[in-house]
Amino acid sequence: MKQSHDVIVVGAGPAGATLAYELAKRGIGVLVLEKEKLPRYKCCAGGVTSKAAKLLDFDISEVTEDVIHEVSFTFNLGSPYLGQDSQPLIYTVMRDAFDYFLVQKAQQLGAVLMDGQKVTQVQVSADWVEISTADNVFRSRLVVGADGAYSVVARELGMGKSIGYAAGIESEIVVPEEELAKWKSRVQIDLGCIPGGYAWVFPKRNHLSIGVGCQASKTRDLHAHHQKFLNSLSIDNYTVTKSSSHLIPTCTKGRIVWQDKALLLGDAAGLADPLTGEGIYNAILSAQLAAPVIEDSLVRGKVGLQDYQEIVERKIMSELKMARTLSKIFVRFPHLAFGMFNQSEGVWRAVCNLMFGEIDYTAIKGRVGEFKGIFNRLFRA
Ligand SMILES: Cc1cc2nc3c(=O)[nH]c(=O)nc-3n(C[C@H](O)[C@H](O)[C@H](O)COP(=O)(O)OP(=O)(O)OC[C@H]3O[C@@H](n4cnc5c(N)ncnc54)[C@H](O)[C@@H]3O)c2cc1C
Repeated sequence: MKQSHDVIVVGAGPAGATLAYELAKRGIGVLVLEKEKLPRYKCCAGGVTSKAAKLLDFDISEVTEDVIHEVSFTFNLGSPYLGQDSQPLIYTVMRDAFDYFLVQKAQQLGAVLMDGQKVTQVQVSADWVEISTADNVFRSRLVVGADGAYSVVARELGMGKSIGYAAGIESEIVVPEEELAKWKSRVQIDLGCIPGGYAWVFPKRNHLSIGVGCQASKTRDLHAHHQKFLNSLSIDNYTVTKSSSHLIPTCTKGRIVWQDKALLLGDAAGLADPLTGEGIYNAILSAQLAAPVIEDSLVRGKVGLQDYQEIVERKIMSELKMARTLSKIFVRFPHLAFGMFNQSEGVWRAVCNLMFGEIDYTAIKGRVGEFKGIFNRLFRA
């Protein structure tokens, strides 16, 4: 017999878990289908920016590994620019614990989780959506694809167009305690050691997450760049406990994120930031934008989910467009991008305010004259 639900969410990452939480809060029946058994590892640096944490209406300290107050920017591992702030800039998390924590918040409000259920087929008819896994067929009034970069929902419904990709490698690295202590509350971002991207060190409670990421078109030597970065950190005696790579999808112009009975969220919609690769913020935000649209449709009888497209374009895609423009400049002139930090304290303040969510890329556009002046000075030099 087919199980019926109001909404089926495919994927229990930050996007799917947040939508389940928001729908359950509104009294809407929601089933989350997740292919892995939870908690599951996710290839990610695990940086939850302050602005991302602020979106949630609960505290995440239970699953926070470290609180970051300092960013050490380097260019090709040269002398660092140290940016600091007394406010938390980033919370580092392990995604198995963080994502499961979000799912549990949804379950506490009545959302149902079925893990170990890999969705293989999605079929939309006039009245229902039918969603198949290896052992079950489910029915729902709406389906939401929150199933990440390789979204089966997007593929099944022919919604996989207008996406560009970055790619990243992430290693979980156990280091001696004295080494770990050096990284407390500090992340490192290196521009220049990999073309078209950057490398990072994110400290966790008992280890370091070290990775590199770049535009997918430039990934030929991703592993070699990762190893080179690791070697250059001069960490004696380390153990790699996990190493994996994954795509980071960023949408391009014309991306459609809805159909009559379907929506896409987070990475499935291609909403990661093309400049930084940050995807958790927009995963959570897209879920929070989707919830009232779904409520309008299911509870108030409003036909269609197209309002979601409009609000995602206004609140997220316009920002991604700005980020893409900045990313093109930084990819082409990474040394100048790095050089800007030493030219004006305003550059670091702008980065902090972006992480706090106090300004967005559109606000940066308003200050373009100021930043262009610095950039041109560096360019001439
Ligand atoms: C190397 C790397 C480093 C990154 N670092 C950061 C960072 O520091 N900060 C940041 O904000 N972002 C980072 N990102 C991006 C971030 O990981 C993603 O943008 C974010 O996970 C998107 O969340 P999501 O919920 O949309 O998708 P996901 O987190 O990918 O969740 C999708 C879920 O769907 C499940 N699923 C997939 N297919 C199916 C199926 N067929 N049936 C059922 N379930 C399915 C998956 O198992 C998964 O649990 C990084 C990405 C990479 C690759």
